Amino acid sequence: MTDKNSPRIAIAGGGLMGRLLAWRLAQRDCNITLFEARDFTTPSGACWAAAGMISPLSELVHSQREVYGLGVRSLELWPDWARQLETESGKAVEFRRAGSVLVAHGRDRSELEHIQRELAGKLNGDESAQVRPLDRGQLQQLEPALENFEQGLYLESEGDIDNRRLLPVLLNILRQQGVHLRERTPVECTPGCVEHGEGKLRFDCVIDCRGLGAKGQVEGLRGVRGEVLVVETREVQLQRPVRLLHPRYQLYAVPRSGGQTVIGATEIESEDMSPISVRSLMELSSALYSLHPAFAEARVVETRVNCRPATMDNLPHVHGEPRLVRVNGLYRHGYLLAPALVERVEKLVMQQCLQVA
Ligand SMILES: Cc1cc2nc3c(=O)[nH]c(=O)nc-3n(C[C@H](O)[C@H](O)[C@H](O)COP(=O)(O)OP(=O)(O)OC[C@H]3O[C@@H](n4cnc5c(N)ncnc54)[C@H](O)[C@@H]3O)c2cc1C
Repeated sequence: MTDKNSPRIAIAGGGLMGRLLAWRLAQRDCNITLFEARDFTTPSGACWAAAGMISPLSELVHSQREVYGLGVRSLELWPDWARQLETESGKAVEFRRAGSVLVAHGRDRSELEHIQRELAGKLNGDESAQVRPLDRGQLQQLEPALENFEQGLYLESEGDIDNRRLLPVLLNILRQQGVHLRERTPVECTPGCVEHGEGKLRFDCVIDCRGLGAKGQVEGLRGVRGEVLVVETREVQLQRPVRLLHPRYQLYAVPRSGGQTVIGATEIESEDMSPISVRSLMELSSALYSLHPAFAEARVVETRVNCRPATMDNLPHVHGEPRLVRVNGLYRHGYLLAPALVERVEKLVMQQCLQVA
């Protein structure tokens, strides 16, 4: 419960970062107002379209070491956060720590070798990373459905979370915590001040996590379009996220409850939010079919399109100045980076509130 001495904090953007920050800061007795441009029940940000993979190693191949370090820290935090969220809400968020599996067809075997070399180089002898080559038998034991593959890689430490469960759970908890929820209220952020259609409101500190809504305020912020399919079948059951490596397109398949699998994702330098293209639909479905032919009869139950908020170097951006903190550029790593970044932002905000008091 907050009192009149509690720091008054405004958070702009009710996506992944906004909700997690509101939850954590409300636990510290801050008086939180969360502003969202659209509505809270069907979030319009990248967070709702995402697949929820928490995969520092898979991502290290294409990203910088900093992303890996933050991802490893997040993986330390997620299990406890997920447990707390489940206890507070009484609902599952389906955080899973079952690793992920990478496979390639025989003709693309060099892709697996390439990734193994890249990871070995970037990890520089880090034994804790646990990258395990799999022969056919080992692969079959882990993922019986992948019977068409001769080898793979097992990234044991990786995890994932069901974002379509996590985000509503967070919303319910924010309600219980007494966070002031202001939806359909697009805002602009300046130090100690939030401006919306009806005027200006003053706060001890403002946190701007509006994703692409903060364009113009974060240097070089751009959107990277991603398209995802959700299919449903009882014929193929994967146990954990699986990535198919291919020279032209890469595919991941993330199993969810109810026989659903999230298939993604395209990566297109564009801020177009229009529905999925036929080309992407064909490429994703044919890659999926090559993972297991029984996917041919799966039903497409949903397609999702959104744009990842990215900086020019694809690294996250955290900037603090008196009474204002901006956090953005989570790119394709929101679920991977969020806890570690929330931890960083929490510290910045609490320092600022102490200065104000
Ligand atoms: C197809 C796809 C797949 C992905 N898969 C993964 C994955 O598997 N793993 C992973 O780690 N990451 C993944 N991501 C990335 C992840 O979704 C993003 O990095 C993350 O959602 C960014 O979080 P955010 O809170 O910064 O922004 P967002 O989630 O975009 O939220 C921003 C919020 O701010 C609101 N807003 C905007 N303007 C205003 C305004 N003026 N006033 C108030 N509110 C405003 C928006 O409506 C939105 O709700 C994926 C993204 C996409 C698109």
